[in-house]
Amino acid sequence: FYTADMHELATKRLALESNLRRAIQNEEFLIHYQPRVSVDSLAITGVEALVRWQHPSLGLISASEFIPLAEDTGLIVPIGEWVLRTACLQGRRWRDQGFAPIQIAVNISARQFHDQDLAQTVIRILEETGLSPKYLELELTESSIMQDAEFAAEMLNRLKSMGINISIDDFGTGFSSLASLKRLPIDALKIDRTFVRDATTDTDDGALVMAIITLAHNLRLKVIAEGVETEEQLRFLQLLRCDEIQGYFFSKPLPADTLATIFDSYGEVSRKGTK
Ligand code: C2E
Ligand code: MG
Ligand code: MG
Repeated sequence: FYTADMHELATKRLALESNLRRAIQNEEFLIHYQPRVSVDSLAITGVEALVRWQHPSLGLISASEFIPLAEDTGLIVPIGEWVLRTACLQGRRWRDQGFAPIQIAVNISARQFHDQDLAQTVIRILEETGLSPKYLELELTESSIMQDAEFAAEMLNRLKSMGINISIDDFGTGFSSLASLKRLPIDALKIDRTFVRDATTDTDDGALVMAIITLAHNLRLKVIAEGVETEEQLRFLQLLRCDEIQGYFFSKPLPADTLATIFDSYGEVSRKGTK
């Protein structure tokens, strides 16, 4: 009975894996972009590219449902490259449409960070798409960086020297060495949404959020709170001088075209022409 269950799970996984390989060939992916806004002005400062899989029969599959499998199988490398190229192209397109430039943040998984020459890929894609490196931000997790500190330092310094921004995603869920945070060329920390979720109701989570913001500011890093859903959370983060927020309170991740209509009505990203 138990083995039958396991067998079914393995069969499902195998089917999903071969589906995923086909999806890469057929380009069945799309990106939704979630805006990130300044805590003070609620002006849009950037967007995060979040991949989705438009499965021909299963419909839209969320990142959390297939990214772990893509990571295990190594398929994240070609998928990640597609996301990077598409997001950079979109950033370039928004500029061409006359919107003021904003940061385009792209998630990079550990496998991508370690398995290929990421710096070369990024250089190639920036050249192909014409996006300026200062508008590209790579989101890495603590574990990617801590796996091999020496390698990470070298890679991050290369990326940084190209003018790219680096942020640490899901901060607080991994085990960062504080020495590395100081030593590595990091621009921002993104506080994991599990802490933000309970920050206003659980004093321990509130204290953690406060500690992360203080730590980041003392190291001259920007802080972004993820998963902000309520006005109360926003007020709390304003009080703590958090720099930026991302979350359903302001906007869910949206298709590029829908987002352009929000750009028009919100703050800095209105059509100002080129700066
Ligand atoms: P992440 O990078 O931490 O992205 C934030 C996730 O939180 C997204 O889920 C987003 O939709 C969700 N989120 C944003 N605001 C809220 C909120 O207010 N409340 C709640 N409950 N959730 C919120 P999503 O798109 O399902 O992505 C899940 C994870 O999958 C991402 O977490 C990231 O680690 C990974 N991922 C997504 N796209 C890519 C990609 O292109 N490449 C790689 N390597 N990983 C990706
Ligand atoms: Mg992220
Ligand atoms: Mg995150």
